Amino acid sequence: DRNMILPRIRQLDEGAVNRIAAGEVVERPASAVKELVENALDARATRVTVDIADGGRTLIRVTDDGHGIEAADLPLALSRHATSKIDGSDLLNIHSFGFRGEALASLGAVGRLTVTSRTAGAAEGATIRVSGGRMDPPRPAALRGGTVVELRDLFHATPARLKFLKSERSEGMAVADAIRRLAMAEPAVAFTLRDVSDGGERVLFRADGSDAAGRLALVLGRDFIRNAMPLDAARDGFHLGGHAGLPTFSRGNAVHQYLFVNGRPVRDRMLTGALRGAYSDVLAKDRHAVAALFLTCDPVLVDVNVHPAKTEVRFRDAGLVRGLIVSGLRHALAEAGHRSATTVAD
Ligand code: ADP
Ligand code: MG
Repeated sequence: DRNMILPRIRQLDEGAVNRIAAGEVVERPASAVKELVENALDARATRVTVDIADGGRTLIRVTDDGHGIEAADLPLALSRHATSKIDGSDLLNIHSFGFRGEALASLGAVGRLTVTSRTAGAAEGATIRVSGGRMDPPRPAALRGGTVVELRDLFHATPARLKFLKSERSEGMAVADAIRRLAMAEPAVAFTLRDVSDGGERVLFRADGSDAAGRLALVLGRDFIRNAMPLDAARDGFHLGGHAGLPTFSRGNAVHQYLFVNGRPVRDRMLTGALRGAYSDVLAKDRHAVAALFLTCDPVLVDVNVHPAKTEVRFRDAGLVRGLIVSGLRHALAEAGHRSATTVAD
């Protein structure tokens, strides 16, 4: 049809671009908390405190004692695709939680974001605000050290997303779960989660710095550690550590299965499938093992740049990883006296 009006192509402005990208990074308060706590951990914090109000909807505040951000770098920290963690030359050699330079820009596009920070060498702190994609220049601010990131009124600019949020209670539980996962990954770091709704202050989770087993005992319960097998298996550059529960300590659902790849909490069908497979002979179909599996390898053997939320990974050799998990777990089960019919000698 020659009379059709041809649609024009236009470049979206930065605010729109950030709001679109934010949709993938920030699904709910828990995803914002995950990104902010990861930033604190990347900054080598030893203590991370998270305050939330109304399940994180009206307030998320993450305070850390990490290395901080220089005042002059604050505008860049809030800009999209700006990061201090990689130089862009090798996306397969990632040693930090963050690398995409997207989280703060995304949060600034969907909430009112204030970042206050002070580096060890600085005479004073500095603060910067961004709301609705508009950034004010940094101003001096009082702070002893580290970084405080405050996110208010998440999704006020995207009412459609706001409607998808669940109750305050379930959003708060998802926040706590995100923090528990990261707390398991970083046992030496102290974590506190507080609900500060209505001017109150209720501690929801608290963990002092600890060793790996002590942290697992705190998060998954002392009963878990007493009823779990320590894992230690290696194959072709991969190592499997952590703890897996005895078949007698199984659960009716799989929510207590925690998977980490190079210290990063991940959700992965292949890994959960391998876990299920390893127990197939010793657990009924409707029972699920409790486990915290820590897989480590050279970062080049696994791609974490699969999705903006960084909770998915692709292994270069998935079959190898699956084999290691199945044989590592079956070996531990056999040692514990739960010999499976198909245990293979390795
Ligand atoms: P990424 O983590 O992928 O680099 P972010 O948008 O999350 O992207 O953060 C941008 C940059 O801001 C980081 O690379 C880091 O330099 C700085 N930054 C963010 N949060 C903190 C923090 N809590 N402490 C120190 N620096 C931070
Ligand atoms: Mg980040």
